[in-house]
Amino acid sequence: MPEWPEMETYRAMLTKHVAGKSIRSVEIAREKSVNVDAEQFKRELEGRTIWFIERRGKYILFHLDNGKRLLLHLMLGGLLYYGSDEQDRPDRTVQVTLTFEQGHLYFIGLRLGFLHYLSVKEVEARLAELGPDPFDKRVTLENFKARLQGKRSALKNALVDQHVLSGIGNCYADEIAFTAGIRPDRKLTTLDETELERLYHAMHKVLRDAADKGGYMELPFTRDDELTGGYNSQCLVYDRGGEPCVQCGTAIVKTEMSSRKVFYCPNCQKES
Ligand SMILES: [Zn+2]
Repeated sequence: MPEWPEMETYRAMLTKHVAGKSIRSVEIAREKSVNVDAEQFKRELEGRTIWFIERRGKYILFHLDNGKRLLLHLMLGGLLYYGSDEQDRPDRTVQVTLTFEQGHLYFIGLRLGFLHYLSVKEVEARLAELGPDPFDKRVTLENFKARLQGKRSALKNALVDQHVLSGIGNCYADEIAFTAGIRPDRKLTTLDETELERLYHAMHKVLRDAADKGGYMELPFTRDDELTGGYNSQCLVYDRGGEPCVQCGTAIVKTEMSSRKVFYCPNCQKES
């Protein structure tokens, strides 16, 4: 599932290609991907201009010129593609297409994911429980510690909990834990001050590095996009079960925790 770096890459790409542009037409191939009747969705959207694009956690918000928003969550398997002409379209099943004067924005794999047309109030209600962004100025080291300390859960479960912080998921939780040298199954109550501090800095480093490299998406955003997916082969532990650790050569362990895949180096990451 796309996480902070992937959605941040999409935010930048969308800003470049569709911010300030008017929606000429809308095509809906799967009505369940949107929250209102397809005809109404088209009526509301056609002719609207997208003022700007915001990311909150793993969500993307398209701010429209009528004060309303399109709220996008890609969930598992969702992708975006922007094609400049009819020939330039992905060989995938497209659920929603927004057509602009100079191109088409394709929403792909929106099965669990969705594109919802909402008022500001509705958006705020939907995202009310969302924790702050890892880079939010309010998430200082002290604030970060306070969010994790005293909780009985394991480190990975806390990192992927969108109420604690928004944007981190399965992959980057493991990458962050590895970078901090802490096992993802460690109980938060066992982490000392220096370990929490290492985690805080690891979180920023891992997310920023991955976003700078375009995250791990399987499809570029445009035909000539060479950034998106640049992190695909750069994960240090995630999806590398059995492969040698980049730091020490020990085989990476793949296990499961709360029905989530977990990857870690048994040598570099401390168990206690
Ligand atoms: Zn190692």
